[in-house]
Amino acid sequence: MGRIHLLDPLTVEQIRAGEVIERPASVVKELVENALDAGARTVSVRIRGGGIDEVMVQDDGEGMSPEDAALAVHRHATSKISHSADLFSLSTLGFRGEALASIAAVTHFELLTRVPTAIAGVRVKVVGGGPAEVVPAAAPPGTTVTARHLFFNTPPRRAFLKSATVEGNHVEEVLVGLALSRPAVRFRFTWDQREVFDVLPQERVAERVEALLGTEWAHGLIPLGTEEDDLVHEGIGVTGLIGLPHRHKNTRTGQYFFVNRRFVKSQPLSFALSRGYGELLPTGRFPVGVVFLTVPPHTVDVNVHPTKREVKFQDERAVLQTLVQRVRRALERADLFKTVIPTGVPPDLPASQPGTVPVSPAAPLRLVVKPPPFAVATTTVPTSQGGTAPQPGLWQRGEKTTFRVIGQSHELFVLVEAEGELWLIDQHAAHERIVYEQVLTALQSRGGESQPLLLPLTFELPPAARAAVEEMQEYLTILGFDLRPFGGSTYQLQATPPYLHPADTPALILELAQGWAEGRLDSSIEAKLQDLAARIACKVKAIKAGQALTLEAMQALVSSLLACRAPFVCPHGRPTMIRFALGQLAAHFDRR
Ligand code: ADP
Ligand code: MG
Repeated sequence: MGRIHLLDPLTVEQIRAGEVIERPASVVKELVENALDAGARTVSVRIRGGGIDEVMVQDDGEGMSPEDAALAVHRHATSKISHSADLFSLSTLGFRGEALASIAAVTHFELLTRVPTAIAGVRVKVVGGGPAEVVPAAAPPGTTVTARHLFFNTPPRRAFLKSATVEGNHVEEVLVGLALSRPAVRFRFTWDQREVFDVLPQERVAERVEALLGTEWAHGLIPLGTEEDDLVHEGIGVTGLIGLPHRHKNTRTGQYFFVNRRFVKSQPLSFALSRGYGELLPTGRFPVGVVFLTVPPHTVDVNVHPTKREVKFQDERAVLQTLVQRVRRALERADLFKTVIPTGVPPDLPASQPGTVPVSPAAPLRLVVKPPPFAVATTTVPTSQGGTAPQPGLWQRGEKTTFRVIGQSHELFVLVEAEGELWLIDQHAAHERIVYEQVLTALQSRGGESQPLLLPLTFELPPAARAAVEEMQEYLTILGFDLRPFGGSTYQLQATPPYLHPADTPALILELAQGWAEGRLDSSIEAKLQDLAARIACKVKAIKAGQALTLEAMQALVSSLLACRAPFVCPHGRPTMIRFALGQLAAHFDRR
């Protein structure tokens, strides 16, 4: 007798069920997605024992006829697609037609449903994938599915489940994602008699975020852009909210991604989000965000995994690049001024480079003779739209900002008096921001200055860097470098931009080449140019911490800073200034 035999249908059923249903959270996800596909306005979810003992999902959607209800619990029974081609023009969350069958295979399952126009409803009961018992029943319009005793008939699977608390937390996480994806739908979630949330229909994602995750969570978010914002590039749209850099966490749990309104988990998207923050984030920390991507349906495959939690993009690079750019733009637009909050504790002033410059606590302020007030035109930064518009920044106030440089402190900070405010500017960070924008402008306008070297410099480059240098050649020329191959691995530099020390240049070129080659994800030219500019900004004859500045130099520094597009952060994302409102200062002196 042969050793191979066909598995019995029940075993097959349970194996397949395991692909879709991993834990209570998967049951909840599938049932809620069905409710949403059925056009529910209200979805109520109740769990007991973390969802292991019971999951109940009730909706007020279109319901099912008795015939449909009886069929729905069979595998590959779906009303959502007919042909495989439909997979690429999906407008529903479900399509595989196996969720109900899978849940019914591993639980005590009960479905109660009624089409709103029908007089009577129907009840369908299945125990562990056994025969369906279908009986007429009184039912509210819509559908209620109850699944009890998850994996009661597959003890090994059950053994993989974690504690009720852990499983319940997974359920909550999934529900939060689903509720974020549909602000217009009311979501109620009850866990062991305790109401965890009940969020009413809302118009905007921002309101939903606040209702669901709390005011504190919703604080310090900035809009990624709006539909009107011309955000669709190559058919890729990005909207949502992301956290200000200080909101970082040590896990990715504060990140919610949606692709065509489907809640998904995606490591590449998460990486792209982080990448958009660049050095605004300390290493090993993760930003928070609720990010909605829209792509043409035929360019995304949601059928790569039975649980549909993963998606595959036809052109993943384009999607990721777009996300990175949108995040950068949103952060650039945002008001990233550090404002001191009156708390009674002394304000905590971040040093630009901790530990590099010894600061003597007794060092006196160097006050400078009062110069006449000084006016500069500032660039207006477009106010972001949407309900969560940040506090108006300085540059949004008016055409002209008047300021007066008071002096320099500790050869680190420039003190400035502005209308109703006192600013403390980190001279080194400020100068880096200015140079960064100048270099970027030169790159974008293709007009960098070049200074010939009296003695051309020759140096060697490793093979990988040589390839990158070749690719970058055009930009190096625009920047003012005259770099020529000199045979083999040798290169000769005949001119550099005037703001660089020639002697620093070979190391810089090597670094630029490595950076260029590494920027795997951001292979967009825009991102590469930003990267080039940031790297160059670090290497210029910058104003350093610990350098005495004349009044004129300080005035020029502040004027140039205010003329920047993003004056408030250095290219690495550290703040360039801290702003004290006089009212806040007064509060520190117990004055009102
Ligand atoms: P899929 O969602 O992939 O189609 P399911 O097994 O989840 O497969 O559901 C099977 C079918 O049952 C659906 O196509 C739909 O027609 C019907 N159905 C399931 N849940 C609901 C519900 N809550 N309201 C109305 N119809 C439902
Ligand atoms: Mg489904």
